Amino acid sequence: MNISKLIDGKAAAARVLQQVKHDVLALQTQGITPALAVILVGEDPASQVYVRNKILRAEECGIRSIEHRLDADCPQDRLLALIATLNADPAVSGILLQLPLPAHIEETRALQAIDPRKDVDGFHSENVGGLSQGRDVLAPCTPTGCMYLLEQTLGDLTGKHAVVIGRSNIVGKPMAALLLKAHCSVTVVHSRSTDARALCQLADIVVAAVGRPRMIDASWLKPGAVVIDVGINRIQDGDRSRLVGDVDFDSALPQASAITPVPGGVGPMTIAFLMHNTVTAARQQAQAQVQPHNSPSEAACLSAY
Ligand code: NAD
Repeated sequence: MNISKLIDGKAAAARVLQQVKHDVLALQTQGITPALAVILVGEDPASQVYVRNKILRAEECGIRSIEHRLDADCPQDRLLALIATLNADPAVSGILLQLPLPAHIEETRALQAIDPRKDVDGFHSENVGGLSQGRDVLAPCTPTGCMYLLEQTLGDLTGKHAVVIGRSNIVGKPMAALLLKAHCSVTVVHSRSTDARALCQLADIVVAAVGRPRMIDASWLKPGAVVIDVGINRIQDGDRSRLVGDVDFDSALPQASAITPVPGGVGPMTIAFLMHNTVTAARQQAQAQVQPHNSPSEAACLSAY
Protein backbone atom coordinates (compact mmCIF):
# COMPACT_ATOMS: atom_id res chain seq x y z
CA MET A 1 0.00 0.00 0.00
CA ASN A 2 1.19 3.52 -0.80
CA ILE A 3 1.19 4.96 2.72
CA SER A 4 2.07 8.44 1.46
CA LYS A 5 -1.41 8.69 -0.07
CA LEU A 6 -3.19 8.00 3.21
CA ILE A 7 -4.89 10.90 4.93
CA ASP A 8 -4.39 10.09 8.60
CA GLY A 9 -7.51 11.16 10.48
CA LYS A 10 -6.23 9.87 13.81
CA ALA A 11 -3.14 12.08 13.67
CA ALA A 12 -5.16 15.08 12.44
CA ALA A 13 -7.74 14.63 15.22
CA ALA A 14 -4.91 14.44 17.78
CA ARG A 15 -3.62 17.81 16.52
CA VAL A 16 -7.09 19.39 16.74
CA LEU A 17 -7.57 18.00 20.27
CA GLN A 18 -4.17 19.33 21.31
CA GLN A 19 -5.27 22.79 20.17
CA VAL A 20 -8.57 22.35 22.03
CA LYS A 21 -6.71 21.51 25.26
CA HIS A 22 -4.57 24.59 24.79
CA ASP A 23 -7.69 26.74 24.22
CA VAL A 24 -9.40 25.27 27.31
CA LEU A 25 -6.39 26.20 29.45
CA ALA A 26 -6.44 29.73 28.02
CA LEU A 27 -10.16 30.07 28.85
CA GLN A 28 -9.59 28.72 32.35
CA THR A 29 -7.12 31.53 33.04
CA GLN A 30 -10.09 33.87 32.41
CA GLY A 31 -12.26 31.89 34.85
CA ILE A 32 -14.20 30.10 32.10
CA THR A 33 -14.58 26.30 32.08
CA PRO A 34 -16.23 25.05 28.87
CA ALA A 35 -18.97 22.54 29.62
CA LEU A 36 -20.78 20.13 27.31
CA ALA A 37 -24.21 18.77 28.23
CA VAL A 38 -24.98 15.49 26.46
CA ILE A 39 -28.57 14.24 26.34
CA LEU A 40 -29.28 10.60 25.58
CA VAL A 41 -32.89 9.46 25.25
CA GLY A 42 -33.36 5.70 25.44
CA GLU A 43 -30.89 2.82 25.41
CA ASP A 44 -29.76 2.48 21.80
CA PRO A 45 -26.47 0.54 22.20
CA ALA A 46 -24.58 2.45 19.46
CA SER A 47 -25.72 5.80 20.89
CA GLN A 48 -24.54 4.74 24.35
CA VAL A 49 -21.07 4.03 22.93
CA TYR A 50 -21.00 7.38 21.08
CA VAL A 51 -22.08 9.28 24.19
CA ARG A 52 -19.50 7.51 26.35
CA ASN A 53 -16.74 8.37 23.84
CA LYS A 54 -17.80 12.02 23.65
CA ILE A 55 -17.80 12.36 27.43
CA LEU A 56 -14.40 10.67 27.76
CA ARG A 57 -12.90 12.90 25.08
CA ALA A 58 -14.36 16.02 26.69
CA GLU A 59 -12.83 15.12 30.02
CA GLU A 60 -9.44 14.49 28.40
CA CYS A 61 -9.59 18.01 26.97
CA GLY A 62 -10.51 19.62 30.30
CA ILE A 63 -14.11 20.24 29.17
CA ARG A 64 -16.65 19.58 31.91
CA SER A 65 -19.25 17.09 30.72
CA ILE A 66 -22.76 16.71 32.07
CA GLU A 67 -24.69 13.62 31.01
CA HIS A 68 -28.49 13.54 31.04
CA ARG A 69 -30.10 10.16 30.44
CA LEU A 70 -33.82 10.02 29.80
CA ASP A 71 -35.94 6.88 29.49
CA ALA A 72 -36.94 5.76 25.99
CA ASP A 73 -40.58 6.57 26.79
CA CYS A 74 -39.78 10.01 28.22
CA PRO A 75 -42.51 12.48 27.15
CA GLN A 76 -41.38 15.06 24.59
CA ASP A 77 -42.28 17.90 26.96
CA ARG A 78 -39.83 16.59 29.52
CA LEU A 79 -37.03 16.62 26.96
CA LEU A 80 -37.98 20.15 25.88
CA ALA A 81 -38.04 21.27 29.53
CA LEU A 82 -34.55 19.83 30.08
CA ILE A 83 -33.25 21.63 26.98
CA ALA A 84 -34.80 24.89 28.24
CA THR A 85 -33.06 24.44 31.60
CA LEU A 86 -29.70 23.81 29.91
CA ASN A 87 -30.24 26.81 27.59
CA ALA A 88 -30.74 29.03 30.64
CA ASP A 89 -27.76 27.67 32.58
CA PRO A 90 -24.78 29.99 32.07
CA ALA A 91 -22.40 27.21 33.14
CA VAL A 92 -23.39 25.10 30.09
CA SER A 93 -21.50 26.08 26.91
CA GLY A 94 -22.76 23.38 24.54
CA ILE A 95 -25.74 21.04 24.28
CA LEU A 96 -25.60 17.83 22.30
CA LEU A 97 -28.76 15.84 21.72
CA GLN A 98 -27.70 12.35 20.67
CA LEU A 99 -29.58 11.11 17.59
CA PRO A 100 -31.58 9.10 16.69
CA LEU A 101 -34.43 9.92 19.06
CA PRO A 102 -37.30 7.55 19.87
CA ALA A 103 -40.08 7.75 17.27
CA HIS A 104 -42.55 9.64 19.51
CA ILE A 105 -40.20 12.64 19.76
CA GLU A 106 -40.14 15.18 16.91
CA GLU A 107 -36.46 15.47 16.04
CA THR A 108 -36.73 18.88 14.36
CA ARG A 109 -38.68 20.36 17.28
CA ALA A 110 -36.13 19.08 19.80
CA LEU A 111 -33.14 20.34 17.78
CA GLN A 112 -34.80 23.73 17.24
CA ALA A 113 -35.30 24.03 21.00
CA ILE A 114 -31.53 24.20 21.56
CA ASP A 115 -30.15 27.73 21.89
CA PRO A 116 -28.23 28.29 18.60
CA ARG A 117 -25.32 29.67 20.63
CA LYS A 118 -25.05 26.29 22.40
CA ASP A 119 -25.79 24.20 19.29
CA VAL A 120 -22.41 22.45 19.08
CA ASP A 121 -23.72 20.01 16.45
CA GLY A 122 -24.66 22.91 14.15
CA PHE A 123 -28.13 21.49 13.41
CA HIS A 124 -30.28 24.48 14.46
CA SER A 125 -31.81 26.29 11.47
CA GLU A 126 -30.15 29.56 12.53
CA ASN A 127 -26.74 27.92 12.20
CA VAL A 128 -27.75 26.02 9.05
CA GLY A 129 -28.93 29.30 7.50
CA GLY A 130 -25.81 31.14 8.62
CA LEU A 131 -23.61 28.46 7.08
CA SER A 132 -25.47 28.65 3.78
CA GLN A 133 -24.83 32.42 3.82
CA GLY A 134 -21.12 31.71 4.29
CA ARG A 135 -21.03 33.10 7.83
CA ASP A 136 -18.79 31.78 10.62
CA VAL A 137 -21.27 29.78 12.69
CA LEU A 138 -21.21 26.57 14.69
CA ALA A 139 -21.09 24.10 11.77
CA PRO A 140 -21.73 20.33 11.83
CA CYS A 141 -18.72 18.44 13.14
CA THR A 142 -18.25 15.72 10.50
CA PRO A 143 -18.12 18.03 7.45
CA THR A 144 -15.96 20.51 9.38
CA GLY A 145 -13.57 17.63 10.06
CA CYS A 146 -13.57 16.75 6.34
CA MET A 147 -12.68 20.36 5.50
CA TYR A 148 -9.77 20.25 7.92
CA LEU A 149 -8.45 17.08 6.24
CA LEU A 150 -8.87 18.59 2.77
CA GLU A 151 -7.11 21.83 3.70
CA GLN A 152 -4.28 19.91 5.35
CA THR A 153 -3.92 17.82 2.19
CA LEU A 154 -4.42 20.41 -0.55
CA GLY A 155 -3.93 23.79 1.12
CA ASP A 156 -6.06 26.43 -0.58
CA LEU A 157 -9.15 24.82 -2.14
CA THR A 158 -10.06 27.80 -4.33
CA GLY A 159 -11.29 26.76 -7.77
CA LYS A 160 -11.27 23.02 -7.09
CA HIS A 161 -14.21 21.05 -8.39
CA ALA A 162 -15.72 19.07 -5.53
CA VAL A 163 -18.39 16.41 -5.86
CA VAL A 164 -20.31 15.53 -2.70
CA ILE A 165 -22.14 12.22 -2.89
CA GLY A 166 -25.13 12.38 -0.56
CA ARG A 167 -27.39 15.27 0.48
CA SER A 168 -28.22 14.57 4.13
CA ASN A 169 -28.69 17.46 6.55
CA ILE A 170 -25.93 16.07 8.76
CA VAL A 171 -23.19 15.53 6.19
CA GLY A 172 -23.91 16.16 2.48
CA LYS A 173 -25.59 19.59 2.59
CA PRO A 174 -23.30 21.24 5.17
CA MET A 175 -20.32 19.71 3.37
CA ALA A 176 -21.40 21.39 0.14
CA ALA A 177 -21.88 24.71 1.99
CA LEU A 178 -18.41 24.53 3.56
CA LEU A 179 -16.78 23.70 0.21
CA LEU A 180 -18.57 26.66 -1.40
CA LYS A 181 -17.38 28.87 1.43
CA ALA A 182 -13.84 27.68 0.62
CA HIS A 183 -14.39 28.82 -3.02
CA CYS A 184 -14.78 25.37 -4.60
CA SER A 185 -17.13 24.66 -7.49
CA VAL A 186 -19.51 22.18 -5.93
CA THR A 187 -21.69 19.45 -7.38
CA VAL A 188 -23.97 17.43 -5.11
CA VAL A 189 -25.14 14.04 -6.33
CA HIS A 190 -27.71 11.87 -4.59
CA SER A 191 -29.99 8.86 -4.99
CA ARG A 192 -32.05 10.56 -7.73
CA SER A 193 -29.08 11.86 -9.78
CA THR A 194 -29.15 10.50 -13.30
CA ASP A 195 -25.43 9.89 -13.75
CA ALA A 196 -23.63 10.35 -10.46
CA ARG A 197 -20.59 8.43 -11.67
CA ALA A 198 -20.03 10.64 -14.75
CA LEU A 199 -20.28 13.80 -12.61
CA CYS A 200 -17.92 12.33 -10.06
CA GLN A 201 -15.35 11.54 -12.76
CA LEU A 202 -14.90 15.32 -13.23
CA ALA A 203 -14.04 15.97 -9.58
CA ASP A 204 -10.74 17.11 -8.06
CA ILE A 205 -12.28 16.32 -4.65
CA VAL A 206 -14.77 13.55 -3.91
CA VAL A 207 -16.60 13.40 -0.58
CA ALA A 208 -18.62 10.21 -0.21
CA ALA A 209 -21.44 10.27 2.37
CA VAL A 210 -23.88 7.66 1.16
CA GLY A 211 -24.04 4.77 3.61
CA ARG A 212 -23.49 2.09 0.94
CA PRO A 213 -20.48 -0.16 1.47
CA ARG A 214 -17.72 0.29 -1.15
CA MET A 215 -20.06 1.85 -3.75
CA ILE A 216 -17.40 4.20 -5.15
CA ASP A 217 -14.62 2.38 -6.97
CA ALA A 218 -11.82 3.58 -9.27
CA SER A 219 -14.24 3.94 -12.20
CA TRP A 220 -15.84 6.93 -10.39
CA LEU A 221 -12.56 8.81 -10.00
CA LYS A 222 -10.46 11.14 -12.11
CA PRO A 223 -6.76 10.24 -11.78
CA GLY A 224 -5.33 12.27 -8.91
CA ALA A 225 -8.63 13.00 -7.17
CA VAL A 226 -8.56 13.50 -3.40
CA VAL A 227 -11.09 11.18 -1.79
CA ILE A 228 -12.76 11.73 1.59
CA ASP A 229 -14.78 8.72 2.67
CA VAL A 230 -17.36 9.62 5.32
CA GLY A 231 -19.19 6.29 5.16
CA ILE A 232 -19.13 3.90 8.08
CA ASN A 233 -20.69 0.57 7.14
CA ARG A 234 -20.48 -2.68 9.06
CA ILE A 235 -20.19 -5.69 6.76
CA GLN A 236 -19.88 -9.40 7.35
CA ASP A 237 -16.50 -10.69 6.18
CA GLY A 238 -16.49 -14.46 6.55
CA ASP A 239 -17.25 -15.16 10.18
CA ARG A 240 -16.29 -11.71 11.45
CA SER A 241 -17.78 -8.27 10.90
CA ARG A 242 -15.74 -5.19 10.07
CA LEU A 243 -16.13 -1.55 9.10
CA VAL A 244 -15.78 -0.33 5.52
CA GLY A 245 -16.44 3.02 3.91
CA ASP A 246 -18.58 4.09 0.96
CA VAL A 247 -15.41 3.93 -1.14
CA ASP A 248 -13.84 0.69 -2.32
CA PHE A 249 -10.48 1.57 -0.81
CA ASP A 250 -8.33 -1.01 -2.62
CA SER A 251 -9.77 -0.08 -6.01
CA ALA A 252 -9.65 3.70 -5.41
CA LEU A 253 -6.15 3.88 -3.91
CA PRO A 254 -4.14 3.67 -7.19
CA GLN A 255 -6.39 6.28 -8.84
CA ALA A 256 -6.50 8.80 -5.97
CA SER A 257 -3.72 11.20 -5.02
CA ALA A 258 -4.85 11.04 -1.40
CA ILE A 259 -7.58 9.11 0.40
CA THR A 260 -8.99 8.63 3.89
CA PRO A 261 -9.11 5.06 5.22
CA VAL A 262 -12.08 3.61 7.13
CA PRO A 263 -11.62 3.35 10.04
CA GLY A 264 -9.05 5.99 10.96
CA GLY A 265 -10.03 8.69 8.47
CA VAL A 266 -13.02 10.97 8.98
CA GLY A 267 -14.34 9.11 12.06
CA PRO A 268 -11.92 10.58 14.66
CA MET A 269 -12.43 14.10 13.25
CA THR A 270 -16.09 14.24 14.26
CA ILE A 271 -15.46 14.07 18.02
CA ALA A 272 -12.43 16.36 17.69
CA PHE A 273 -14.59 19.08 16.10
CA LEU A 274 -17.34 18.54 18.66
CA MET A 275 -14.76 19.52 21.27
CA HIS A 276 -13.59 22.40 19.07
CA ASN A 277 -17.17 23.65 18.73
CA THR A 278 -17.75 23.41 22.49
CA VAL A 279 -14.72 25.59 23.19
CA THR A 280 -15.77 28.02 20.44
CA ALA A 281 -19.27 28.25 21.96
CA ALA A 282 -17.80 28.90 25.43
CA ARG A 283 -15.53 31.63 24.07
CA GLN A 284 -18.33 33.30 22.10
CA GLN A 285 -20.68 33.25 25.09
CA ALA A 286 -17.99 34.87 27.24
CA GLN A 287 -17.38 37.52 24.53
CA ALA A 288 -21.11 38.19 24.21
CA GLN A 289 -21.25 38.95 27.95
CA VAL A 290 -18.48 41.52 27.52
CA GLN A 291 -20.12 42.96 24.37
CA PRO A 292 -23.86 42.58 25.07
CA HIS A 293 -24.90 44.54 21.97
CA ASN A 294 -23.48 41.95 19.60
CA SER A 295 -25.89 39.37 18.22
CA PRO A 296 -24.70 35.75 18.53
CA SER A 297 -23.85 35.68 14.84
CA GLU A 298 -21.91 38.93 14.99
CA ALA A 299 -20.01 37.62 17.96
CA ALA A 300 -19.32 34.37 16.11
CA CYS A 301 -15.68 34.04 15.16
CA LEU A 302 -14.72 30.47 14.44
CA SER A 303 -10.97 30.54 14.80
CA ALA A 304 -9.24 29.01 11.79
CA TYR A 305 -8.64 25.66 13.46
P1 NAD B 1 -28.18 9.46 4.98
O1 NAD B 1 -28.76 8.08 4.82
O2 NAD B 1 -28.92 10.45 5.76
O3 NAD B 1 -27.92 10.06 3.52
C1 NAD B 1 -27.37 9.28 2.49
C2 NAD B 1 -27.37 10.08 1.23
O4 NAD B 1 -26.83 9.25 0.19
C3 NAD B 1 -28.75 10.56 0.76
O5 NAD B 1 -28.72 11.93 0.56
C4 NAD B 1 -28.99 9.81 -0.55
O6 NAD B 1 -29.62 10.63 -1.53
C5 NAD B 1 -27.58 9.46 -1.00
N1 NAD B 1 -27.56 8.23 -1.81
C6 NAD B 1 -28.13 7.06 -1.52
N2 NAD B 1 -27.90 6.18 -2.52
C7 NAD B 1 -27.18 6.83 -3.45
C8 NAD B 1 -26.65 6.46 -4.71
N3 NAD B 1 -26.81 5.25 -5.21
N4 NAD B 1 -25.96 7.40 -5.41
C9 NAD B 1 -25.78 8.63 -4.92
N5 NAD B 1 -26.27 9.03 -3.72
C10 NAD B 1 -26.95 8.15 -3.00
O7 NAD B 1 -26.72 9.22 5.55
P2 NAD B 1 -25.71 10.23 6.31
O8 NAD B 1 -26.19 10.48 7.69
O9 NAD B 1 -25.37 11.37 5.44
O10 NAD B 1 -24.44 9.27 6.42
C11 NAD B 1 -23.76 8.79 5.28
C12 NAD B 1 -22.69 7.84 5.70
O11 NAD B 1 -21.76 8.54 6.52
C13 NAD B 1 -23.17 6.66 6.56
O12 NAD B 1 -22.37 5.53 6.27
C14 NAD B 1 -22.90 7.12 7.98
O13 NAD B 1 -22.70 6.05 8.87
C15 NAD B 1 -21.64 7.90 7.78
N6 NAD B 1 -21.39 8.95 8.78
C16 NAD B 1 -20.16 9.00 9.32
C17 NAD B 1 -19.85 9.97 10.24
C18 NAD B 1 -18.47 10.02 10.80
O14 NAD B 1 -18.25 10.53 11.87
N7 NAD B 1 -17.47 9.52 10.07
C19 NAD B 1 -20.81 10.90 10.64
C20 NAD B 1 -22.07 10.86 10.04
C21 NAD B 1 -22.35 9.87 9.10
